[in-house]
Amino acid sequence: TDTAARMGGDEFAVLIEDVTDEHDAEVVAQQLLDALEEPFTISGTDLYVRASIGIAHGGFGAACDQLLRDADLAMYAAKHSGKNRYRTFEAGTQFEALDKLELGSALRRALDRDEIFVQYQPIIDLATAQVVGAEALARWNHPDRGPIGPDVFIPLAEETGLIVELGDRVLLAACKQVRLWQLEHRPNTPLSISVNVSTVQLIQGDFVERVSFALDQTSLPASSLVLEITETTLMRDTDRSILTLCALRDMGVRIAIDDFGTGYSSLSYLHQLPVDILKIDQSFVAAIETSSADRSLAPAIVSLAAALDLVVVAEGVETELQGDTLRGVGCELAQGYFFARPLDRDAMGKLLAARTPDATPVVRHAAASGSR
Ligand code: C2E
Ligand code: CA
Ligand code: CA
Repeated sequence: TDTAARMGGDEFAVLIEDVTDEHDAEVVAQQLLDALEEPFTISGTDLYVRASIGIAHGGFGAACDQLLRDADLAMYAAKHSGKNRYRTFEAGTQFEALDKLELGSALRRALDRDEIFVQYQPIIDLATAQVVGAEALARWNHPDRGPIGPDVFIPLAEETGLIVELGDRVLLAACKQVRLWQLEHRPNTPLSISVNVSTVQLIQGDFVERVSFALDQTSLPASSLVLEITETTLMRDTDRSILTLCALRDMGVRIAIDDFGTGYSSLSYLHQLPVDILKIDQSFVAAIETSSADRSLAPAIVSLAAALDLVVVAEGVETELQGDTLRGVGCELAQGYFFARPLDRDAMGKLLAARTPDATPVVRHAAASGSR
């Protein structure tokens, strides 16, 4: 008896008229969720869909646009509080969702307008103090709000699916840039680039092709690329992730476990994973200078990595003491504010030029023809 409409994509609206009890709409919402509990059988396979429902009430003469917008915000809140549920719009309490909604479309525009760029944090060989690589970190300069941190926009990009495009852009830009630096500053020693990968990207069916495309486009040797994946990603959807990672490694790409120690990877399982590098989470590095028992965790991870024949990178090294301690226990690589903050492309180029171990540049200012 109610009116249902498809608003576009996977968004639908249901108009419930003549509501007498305020909870009528909630009853309908629950019925919809219950109906969706049943699987759809397609070619003999049971498929399950879930829905998040936002409810907005409007009296006689309520503006249609406003009603849809309120319902949309409530839907966002429902999605955020765990999916497969409904939420009712309450004026004034939806600020966060509103902010998110605005930021979500701003992020879409940001990608179109090229407001996303990459900074590079040097990775240092602790034994020689040479820069041996860099981690690519995404940055967003919002035209009105100024810089927005990846802690805010990466989860948003993951939620909206924009991470696939964003991740591709970062990957391409970083591979291209590092290839130029290799030719200009490091003709004889390898310089690697580490790029962060979200779960959403990894489980895309064509992730391996995307990576191989980036390498082809930029002529970067696969051995110069490290993909950083968090423990949580690795532990989710394990079989599929492992197949993908194995294919990437067959190409010569190396895999790092990011924020190691903060997730739940089972140690007995670690040696079976297609992984080359462990990145010690910065919380363990910070603990080195405390008197708590946690101070021995970073050294313990270094020994663990050695036993498993994995390279180890310490993250978030902020003091000389932390660096010295890590070098002392056999940690090979490190990054952190003590050595360098994440740098813009030009600043990173200057640093490499100043620290070039093998003198003559083979390509002069190839970077001038580069992207940004
Ligand atoms: P992450 O991968 O763990 O990156 C390291 C973070 O530590 C970076 O924060 C870096 O700026 C910060 N950092 C580096 N040295 C130090 C230090 O000495 N002390 C402290 N306190 N912090 C240090 P940032 O750039 O804010 O990035 C935050 C997170 O956002 C990253 O954590 C990563 O998970 C995510 N992220 C950044 N760029 C990308 C991207 O292109 N794709 C994806 N999927 N995630 C990204
Ligand atoms: Ca990382
Ligand atoms: Ca990390």
